[in-house]
Formats: sequence, C-alpha cells, structure tokens
Amino acid sequence: SRKRFLVTGGAGFVGSHLVAALLEQDADVTVLDNLSLGHRAAVLPGAKLIVADLSDAQAVDDILSDGPWDAVFHFASLSLVGESMKLPFKYLLENGVNGMKLIEACVRHKVSRFVLSSTANLFGTPERIPIDEAVTIEPHSPYGESKFMIERALHWANEICGLRSACLRYFNAAGADARGRIGEDHDPETHLIPLAIDAVLGRRPPLAIFGNDYPTPDGTCIRDYIHVEDLADAHIRVLDQLTHRSVRYNVGTGRGYSVTEIIESVGRVAGRPVPAHLAPRRLGDPAVLIAGAESLRADTGWSPRYTDLDAVVETAFRWREAHAQGYDDRKLAEPALA
Ligand code: UDP
Repeated sequence: SRKRFLVTGGAGFVGSHLVAALLEQDADVTVLDNLSLGHRAAVLPGAKLIVADLSDAQAVDDILSDGPWDAVFHFASLSLVGESMKLPFKYLLENGVNGMKLIEACVRHKVSRFVLSSTANLFGTPERIPIDEAVTIEPHSPYGESKFMIERALHWANEICGLRSACLRYFNAAGADARGRIGEDHDPETHLIPLAIDAVLGRRPPLAIFGNDYPTPDGTCIRDYIHVEDLADAHIRVLDQLTHRSVRYNVGTGRGYSVTEIIESVGRVAGRPVPAHLAPRRLGDPAVLIAGAESLRADTGWSPRYTDLDAVVETAFRWREAHAQGYDDRKLAEPALA
C-alpha cells in the first residue's frame, strides 16, 4: 500500500525537496508548516499542506491521530545561527521545546520512525576534518543546542519508548530541484551561494567576502556544499536502518570548497564574474567544515549524485534567475504598501 509520511517544515528549503522526492516515489505526503519561514508554493501539488504551528498541541495531535504514519520527518525550525546568538531562548523554546513535544506526541501515537534534520553546528569548531560521528558534541550556538536538545530527547524516546530515529547532521545545503519547480528562498538571505547569484544578477550589492586571512589555501573559509536533492535522498535511505535501531549520520560530500571557489563557480555558471569585495570576518565562522559521511555511505549505499560544484550551483542559479521575487505567493499575500 502507499506509504504515508508527515513532514514538518515541508514548506522550507530542504523539507520541500524531501517532499518532492517522496512524491516521486508515489508516497502520500502531509506537510505541517506554520509558513513563518516556509512558502505555500514550495509544497508541490500532490502533497497536503496543513498550516499550523508545532506549539499547537491540538493540531499536532489531530494530525498524528490520523495515522498510521510510516515515518515523521522533522524539519520545522528556526535556523539563523546569528539570530540565535542574540535571542537564545527563542531558539531553545521554539526549536527545542516544540521539537520535544512533537517527539512525545509521536511516542503517544505510536509512530515508529522519526528522521531529524539536525546540523553540523553541533560540532562547534572541530579539531579534526573531516568531522566524523564520533567527535565531541559542543554546540556552537543556541541554534545548534536546540537541535541537540531534540537529539537527546530522541535518544530517550529510543531507549525507553522504542521510537527509532535518525539524526542527520548537515551543514551547507545548496542547489535546487533539477526540474526547476522549487528552490531556495530565505528572508533574510544569509547564505553564500544565493547571495553570490543575486550579486552577479545585479539584484543586490556586490558580495561581501567575510575574511581572507583564515588558515586555508586561499585564506577564505571552506565548507561542504551538498545538493539538496542528495540530502533528500539521504533522508529516505536512512528509513531502512530504523527497523531495529536508531542512527545518527553526518551528511556531506566529503569535499570542501572555499568562498573564492564558490564565487568562481557562480561566475562560470553566470558567464560573467561575481562583483565582490573583501569584508571583515563574520563572528563565529570556523575556517573549515567538511563532513565525513563514511558511515552513511557504508550503511545505506548513499552517495551524492552531484559531485561537480558547477552542477550544484547551476540548479540554484536557474531557479533564482527565474524567480526574481522568490516564491511569489508570499509577495502576493502581503498587502500592498499604502
Ligand atoms: N560568506 C561570505 N559572504 C556572505 C555570506 C557567506 O563570505 O555574504 C561565507 C561565510 O563566511 C562562510 C561561507 O561563506 O564561510 C558559507 O556561509 P553560509 O552562510 O552560506 O553557510 P554557513 O557555513 O555559515 O552555514
């Protein structure tokens, strides 16, 4: 019979691409999203969208009691690391507490499998690169801490209640749907690739390069950019691991690119150089973050299909070029200024 999945935060960047992948497998998909950061138009036709907040216990109960669910995927979360350094309790409460309440409700409704969108922000400034699963957890921000709170709740939900879970820790989700249906639209946008694309398209001022005196070959920070479709694939593949145990995996390509290399890639894809200038370091940026994803590969056979940086950037570029206003729904829904 058709598999049924609940995706919280399924109107957001990574969540919406998971929904697309699940629909591709002919699954029955319900999205729970409060649309505070997500977009109605990011939920592809075929999925059912329920607009509600995770803090609405009644709404969560109603949805979960409409089971059985083959799995719950949990993406709904505030995700601005910088904001969390100013408003710690916003993150600890909205992400941490609401996440735990969702887990408790899943246990009550006998959901058997739970997949968490977690983060490499758990690892702070890692001593070893690539980062493996055995590394010490030292959340780098209240945002990372809020994800860790949820991971810990999942640990006890597994130990005591038998809820099997996968915590997927990833850093730089990038790219967009290969078919161009959905993409990345954050407000405010803080991520390197979309900002570089907007700069080359002349939609924003030149890109600020946050520091070039890091201990890396060209002095700019190195990150592991993983295509959002490869991420979605990882979320689906881990389900098979969850019959008898819980797992946690890093998800990354194992290869890093510097800010300069990203800017060059966007320039190649656009066919002209990205206007950019040097700016001071951004607070809290570690020099190098590359995920070791060996266990995920070994256990599930997963491997990234996008291994070429330009191919990743190209999907992002195409969607953004075609959507000057991002998802139009939000813009249209906003009352016009008098
Ligand atoms: N970055 C930059 N200029 C920008 C945005 C980002 O130089 O306008 C750098 C940032 O310092 C980091 C890398 O690009 O080294 C990736 O940043 P992003 O915010 O995309 O992801 P993060 O690694 O912080 O999660």
